[in-house]
Amino acid sequence: MCGALRSADAGRKAVLMGWVNRRRDLGSLIFIDLRDRTGLTQIVVNKELNPAVHQKAELLRNEYVIAVIGTVKQRDPETFNKNIPTGEIELVVGELRILNDAKQPPFLPSDTVLPHEEMRLKYRYIDLRRDAMQFNIEMRHKVSKAIRDYLSAQGFFEIETPFMTRSTPEGARDYLVPSRVQPGSFYALPQSPQMFKQILMISGFDKYYQIVRCFRDEDLRADRQPEFTQIDLEMTYPQPESVWAVVEGFLQAAFRAAGHEILGQPSDEKKVQDVDDILNSRTRTEFLRMSYDEAIRRYGNDKPDLRLPPIVDVREGLSPEEVDELAMKFRMRKELPIQLIRIPKAGDISGTERRTIGTYGAYQHVGGPNFVQLMTDPRRFGKDLPAVSEKVVKFAEVDPQDLWLLAGALNKPEIAAVMDQSLQHFCEKCGFLRLDLAQKYAEKHGAFKKTGDSAMDYRFLWVTDFPMFEWDKDERRWNPAHHPFTSLHEEDMAKLEANIDSVRDPKSPLGEIRALAYDVVLNGTELGSGSIRIHRQDIQRKIFQALGMTDEEARARFGFFMEALEYGTPPHGGIALGLDRIVMILAGAESLREVIPFPKTARAVDLMVDAPTPVSDAQLRELGITVKKS
Ligand code: ASP
Repeated sequence: MCGALRSADAGRKAVLMGWVNRRRDLGSLIFIDLRDRTGLTQIVVNKELNPAVHQKAELLRNEYVIAVIGTVKQRDPETFNKNIPTGEIELVVGELRILNDAKQPPFLPSDTVLPHEEMRLKYRYIDLRRDAMQFNIEMRHKVSKAIRDYLSAQGFFEIETPFMTRSTPEGARDYLVPSRVQPGSFYALPQSPQMFKQILMISGFDKYYQIVRCFRDEDLRADRQPEFTQIDLEMTYPQPESVWAVVEGFLQAAFRAAGHEILGQPSDEKKVQDVDDILNSRTRTEFLRMSYDEAIRRYGNDKPDLRLPPIVDVREGLSPEEVDELAMKFRMRKELPIQLIRIPKAGDISGTERRTIGTYGAYQHVGGPNFVQLMTDPRRFGKDLPAVSEKVVKFAEVDPQDLWLLAGALNKPEIAAVMDQSLQHFCEKCGFLRLDLAQKYAEKHGAFKKTGDSAMDYRFLWVTDFPMFEWDKDERRWNPAHHPFTSLHEEDMAKLEANIDSVRDPKSPLGEIRALAYDVVLNGTELGSGSIRIHRQDIQRKIFQALGMTDEEARARFGFFMEALEYGTPPHGGIALGLDRIVMILAGAESLREVIPFPKTARAVDLMVDAPTPVSDAQLRELGITVKKS
């Protein structure tokens, strides 16, 4: 291969095949950088030694595919190329065969300036020849393999599930496939193998996984693709911790494959469980854990980025009188948190800049300023309320170098009346502001820069106890926050029963019911979600009822599944993680398109094959479909 030869091979004969990466014609000498996926080797064609080959080499152009036979020659030290591993040798050609010529490509794999992304996607086969893409795709292979090896060693079977199936309830729009044999009927491409993997537990496979494509017709963002790959798994008799231990194990293997040690070496001590652990089949895990409620309160979102300090509710460090004083001074509602947001080492900004805080970014977009009241001038705060300000600074452990501000809910009754000033909404807006500031001052705090210490660079977290239901503003109804097969906390069962017919009531205590659902989060990005499932048919029926489905509707959509639950279903649970996202992070790539060989654009178009396309009338007729022209 073109990356293989070293000084030790000098004098040996070698055959190389590959692409002409670059050709330099110095008259009597022609140099060719020959490329394959392993690297480059310099090929030399000498007119005096071999005039016939030299003549042939003059025909070569970029991206021609050639085979050469030659002798490996040690280069003179002053001509070493330190940038490539084969840089100390070259191959002196004896024979050259042109296996194929190439048109002048729209861009070259060796170009240092990237062409427009549309061009890269249209000529993806050329784009994929680039070093960076070869690296990413190799990384993807290594990561998937490490995960497969780990899970197989843990006793998981990789089992395939159908792509042509029926709608699964992950909450997105389905991609449909029309049936020719039964005109008017459609398969849906799976949004996930959720029901199948649960059925596999009912079928006795105990531990299942699959690295599997999922299809969701959603509005696309930079980190979404209409088809994407999940590491999907399910197991029987788990506590949440048993699922977490498996995930931590395969993530450790995946990160190791990419050269990062994210956990300490597992010591023997950790392997020994105490009796309680065994009885409760609790497995020890290492990632930090945080409840959903705490995440919302302290980070303002359900995927906290732990690389920057949490938000502090300063009321907790003040007496009631001081809270009154503070709230009054800045017209903040004292019933809701008064949040101190702190960005380390970003303190030295001008007064003008300080005044623009809150006028940019996602915080604006989510309507933050509509009812969040900001105090962005600590100096004025210190002058106006010296005692309170001193206490606040101490309580929140603010350093003089830090940029910090207070955010409270604007205390205006007329606003409180029209705005949803719930704790959750308020905290979320503060969370957006925190992230906006973190982005804006990234250079100053440096917390997003890699240090080389993987334990610091990759901050993992389990977010637990998600709500079971979430209010859908557009549909004006409660929907499952995860999916309807998620178990709830046993203690919340009574609440479910008492409110089983309140799917249209935004104030329903359904919103307080907690699920045995969890997310794994890395540096503020959600890597995956899972849950312990409902394994009893009666409870499953109640959930469908709470979601406003009649028995008939539930039977029509999930009949086969409801029936399966009746035939001896073991307790089970699992999770699914986004493989594309994990590889993207490991490859240090900016977009999922950099780690998916043949991705789609933001408009869900494959520019290389040009899909989707209209189909012939004959095909439509066969399917019994008429397209309405708008
Ligand atoms: N099917 C779920 C999802 O795709 C994951 C799970 O619950 O295992 O989000």
